[in-house]
Amino acid sequence: MALLSTHSLTAYYGDFQALFGVDIALEESETIAIIGANGAGKSTLMRAITGLLTSDASGIQYDGQPIGDIPAEDIMKLGIAMVPEGRKLFPSLSVEENLQIGYYGRKPQPGDYWQIDAIYDLFPALKDLRRRPGTALSGGQQQMVAIGRALMSNPRVLLCDEISLGLAPVIIRDIYKALPRIQESGASTIIVEQDIGQAMKVADRVYCMMEGRVTLSGTPEELSREAIHNAYFGETE
Ligand code: ATP
Repeated sequence: MALLSTHSLTAYYGDFQALFGVDIALEESETIAIIGANGAGKSTLMRAITGLLTSDASGIQYDGQPIGDIPAEDIMKLGIAMVPEGRKLFPSLSVEENLQIGYYGRKPQPGDYWQIDAIYDLFPALKDLRRRPGTALSGGQQQMVAIGRALMSNPRVLLCDEISLGLAPVIIRDIYKALPRIQESGASTIIVEQDIGQAMKVADRVYCMMEGRVTLSGTPEELSREAIHNAYFGETE
């Protein structure tokens, strides 16, 4: 049984339907990528999983339980953490204070893999910046803090929305280098990525979305460039 899965998942913004029967599955210790163009529904899927958008209870299953109707603050306590699009750090707090916020709602346990020192080991650049406020960081440094903050809750599932959007190639490389280590820590990861090439390099499996639907899924080896192009842009483009 998958650790996390969605089942004919629908989601709405008021009357506007943004997801139409989405089925995805994340196995234990797996990294999957959700790819798709602007407006495909990738962020909406992340918001539904994290309880920021409500859905049917049975539309999302986690660890054998329906969680579709559980609010965001309780989802985090279940072990699902999100790195939101746009990082959303607290600008007046320091790097270290932003990281410590990741403990919110859950007391650190003695055996936790992710503690402050492990985050600095994962992203050494952050150690020297630890007293610097969130406002004084580059986009890449902010993304590292946002990933570190999510890891501080020692999640079983880590969701990264638009993990590399707007970042310099050298920073993207550093962030992607961290993913195998996150996998080793036992976390299973969903990354949302517009860059098809990056997604293919790191993901065990890829789902492509278009207009609120999954249009293609498979391992990077199974999917041809042409099939991905059609699923990403639509066959007529
Ligand atoms: P992007 O890369 O632009 O974030 P995406 O694949 O993440 O794209 P979503 O942000 O999930 O796409 O958007 C899916 C659809 O839902 C789009 O048509 C979008 O305009 C709409 N949408 C997203 N957020 C809202 C909102 N808060 N209110 C109304 N409609 C929304």
